[in-house]
Amino acid sequence: PFDVLVVGGGPAGASSAIYAARKGIRTGIVAERFGGQVLDTVGIENLIGIKHTEGAKLAANLEEHVKEYNVDIMKNQRAKGLEKKEFIEVELENGGVLKSKTVILSTGARWRNVNVPGEAEFKNKGVAYCPHCDGPLFAGKHVAVIGGGNSGIEAAIDLAGIVSHVTVLEFAPELKADSVLQDRLYSLPNVTVIKNAQTKEITGTDKVNGITYVERDTGVEQHIELQGVFVQIGLVPNTDWLAGTLERTPMGEIIVDRQGATTIPGVFAAGDCTNSPYKQIIISMGSGATAALGAFDYLIRN
Ligand code: FAD
Repeated sequence: PFDVLVVGGGPAGASSAIYAARKGIRTGIVAERFGGQVLDTVGIENLIGIKHTEGAKLAANLEEHVKEYNVDIMKNQRAKGLEKKEFIEVELENGGVLKSKTVILSTGARWRNVNVPGEAEFKNKGVAYCPHCDGPLFAGKHVAVIGGGNSGIEAAIDLAGIVSHVTVLEFAPELKADSVLQDRLYSLPNVTVIKNAQTKEITGTDKVNGITYVERDTGVEQHIELQGVFVQIGLVPNTDWLAGTLERTPMGEIIVDRQGATTIPGVFAAGDCTNSPYKQIIISMGSGATAALGAFDYLIRN
């Protein structure tokens, strides 16, 4: 068996694997797509100490760094079950079972898509998901935020300080965000809120030039010219396969303590798949380090 088995090969998983391997213990990492969400990113400018990098380059650097150590890397493998017996057993979709004394779950998350024409086509060409990451790219421009929940309204408030104008499109007749956030939003001069709006299409040529929506009460179609669209309708953790095992939030995020421990002894978790309040590369790397040190601590005590 492994001492530490990491499930997931994004920033959290890579960091966990390196921290574990540096303790000289038997470490494995199994990942469906090594690099994770970083592979879907173009410019990265908030990984402190690295002024600018690109997603594909950072993903390659993560793998190269893991390979510096004696880590058993199993790529293109998807975990489908977890069970604690004598060891912790992780079952793979290919039928294999990996055994380990401790497991670090770092399966990340995915942004929920609006699934309208133009979204996929203009991803990274005006369609964005992370205001902390991509907000500054839209300085002085007009952007839309799709989604009036907490994350949408937080994004709109954040972006209003950077861009020239923010238009919020909410599908429902009311915003769902907390009222303090709504009050703050409505106090800003450069924000428009459109409720009952069903996004129909994100338009553009080589990059985004507008958004089309349908007024749900009248059926009338409207078009707004703008340069960016932030999709903020939810971040879904990749934890469905853990249902009925460890404790998760109602949204499916794995609940961890300050050492990264979950409710199953010996099982730790890190990164975007956990209830960490903020989801960023640097935060995932930090929590990966925490989970690996937590797992090492567990190993020397058990
Ligand atoms: P992920 O990166 O999601 O990695 C999860 C890993 O688990 C992957 O290897 C995946 O294949 C694997 N996996 C999932 N399920 C299974 C399974 N069942 N079995 C095996 N493996 C599995 N953050 C920043 O800090 N700066 C930015 O500029 C930035 N830009 C972004 C741009 C975009 C378009 C997106 C989508 C995100 C961006 N982020 C940015 C957020 C950042 O990418 C994430 O916070 C970070 O990647 C999370 O790391 P993670 O390791 O927790 O998860």
